[in-house]
Amino acid sequence: SLPIVAIIGRPNVGKSTVANRLAGDNDAIVHDEAGVTRDRTYRPAFWQDRDYIVVDTGGLVFDDDTEFLPLIREQALAALAEASAAIFVVDGQAGLTTGDQEIAEWLRQHPIPVVLAVNKCESPQQGLVQASEFWSLGLGEPFPMSGIHGNGTGELLEKLVTYL
Ligand code: GDP
Ligand code: MG
Repeated sequence: SLPIVAIIGRPNVGKSTVANRLAGDNDAIVHDEAGVTRDRTYRPAFWQDRDYIVVDTGGLVFDDDTEFLPLIREQALAALAEASAAIFVVDGQAGLTTGDQEIAEWLRQHPIPVVLAVNKCESPQQGLVQASEFWSLGLGEPFPMSGIHGNGTGELLEKLVTYL
């Protein structure tokens, strides 16, 4: 069976946009319609000669107190449990947040390879500056990219496939 890559991160950082960028218009092979788990979708994707499955999640949140928090967190953790690797998406325009740090802390305690995607970096030059503060998460190289424009995805995926 194909390796699974979970897309995780705070809400609104661009996880779904990144997932769409990676999977193109490939159809979802599983689509859970129940409640807030509706956007946990599994879609085939590939990079060069490597096939994998992208799982989008509703967002990994630890410090929020919305009533949906347990469900949202549960689905993100469920996606991670079955994944070979994760793409941790952060928002390069918003900069580093305590939510990012909490997710990073959780990831450092779990044995899953992680690639750090600093999304919303439309300008590659500015992106290098925006990405640099995310080194402090302790998850290795932060890759500036834009899910909307597509720049930076090549470098990110090159790293990702070494984990699959
Ligand atoms: P999710 O909640 O993490 O799945 O985030 P979404 O993919 O739904 O995106 C949240 C918001 O960020 C939307 O308004 C997107 O248009 C915007 N967004 C996503 N990717 C990018 C990007 O690469 N650049 C910019 N400027 N905005 C983006
Ligand atoms: Mg989403």
